[in-house]
Amino acid sequence: MRVSKFTTGGGLRAVGLLVIVGLFPNPFPPAAAQRITPTAEEPKPPITPIADSHQPALSERRTVKVPILVYHHVSQSDPEGSSAVRRLTVTADVFAQQMQYLQDNGYHVITFADLADYFERGKELPTLPVIISFDDGWETQFEYALPSLEKYHYTATFFVVTDYIGRAGFISWPQLQTLLTDGMRIGSHSRSHLRLTKIKDPEKLWDQIYSSKTILESQLEASVEEFAYPYGSHNAKAAAAVKQAGYRAGRGCCSGIAHTSSDVFTLKAVMVPNDMEKFVEYIGASGVRTARTEHGTVPPQPGSR
Ligand SMILES: [Zn+2]
Repeated sequence: MRVSKFTTGGGLRAVGLLVIVGLFPNPFPPAAAQRITPTAEEPKPPITPIADSHQPALSERRTVKVPILVYHHVSQSDPEGSSAVRRLTVTADVFAQQMQYLQDNGYHVITFADLADYFERGKELPTLPVIISFDDGWETQFEYALPSLEKYHYTATFFVVTDYIGRAGFISWPQLQTLLTDGMRIGSHSRSHLRLTKIKDPEKLWDQIYSSKTILESQLEASVEEFAYPYGSHNAKAAAAVKQAGYRAGRGCCSGIAHTSSDVFTLKAVMVPNDMEKFVEYIGASGVRTARTEHGTVPPQPGSR
């Protein structure tokens, strides 16, 4: 196992968790609702009343272009396996080139919290902001992407499926701790990677969204503020639950790089190809739409790569 010695501290910022209750009608039954706020706080007024003219500082509708890069597998050599898996694989060399490209072309890596702060509090963003994220918690991300992230001191968010942690081919709990020590962020990608829009039972939906957060936070002793929808698939109920669970941002399906204030729980994403030319095209100013959503029809396979 890898021993960490590199610390940026970026991922350890203690950002207070805001449990935003009351903005939406509670979509959960009373039994589930009682588990919403572990601190049993009284419901607080909405923090971000986007359309509330009484709070002008927060009501401004803002738009910003931020490519949110999404990686799945990172391979040491040329991608192998099915065409679906190959499409979700970037080699370590190409990944390193992409990180170099960001540095050479004036991009500044920010976090989902920075983007949420931009929308909610007017925090300024650097020029050419970009977010780096990884889905599913594949161990290859730890092995082959982390060295480049460390080299450029970039903070990335690793969206993990809590039921998969430690299984063959997936990142383990000690590796997640190393990622945090290295300044990375850990986000939730649900408990078991179900398509949330297919879940009828509100308690099951809540379990996927909220329990995955509390499991990560108690095991890692770190705040978990970002959620990525499995398959990028979301609807109004899922997005409301992500907000109510206390996340600050949700990453969704649709391709593109322009986000507005109302998108903070359904952020767009860029599926990164194993191709520099397309990479440059996808993150460019026009934010060319990419063809695929996350995974397409191929779910991650626990216990195998
Ligand atoms: Zn996934």
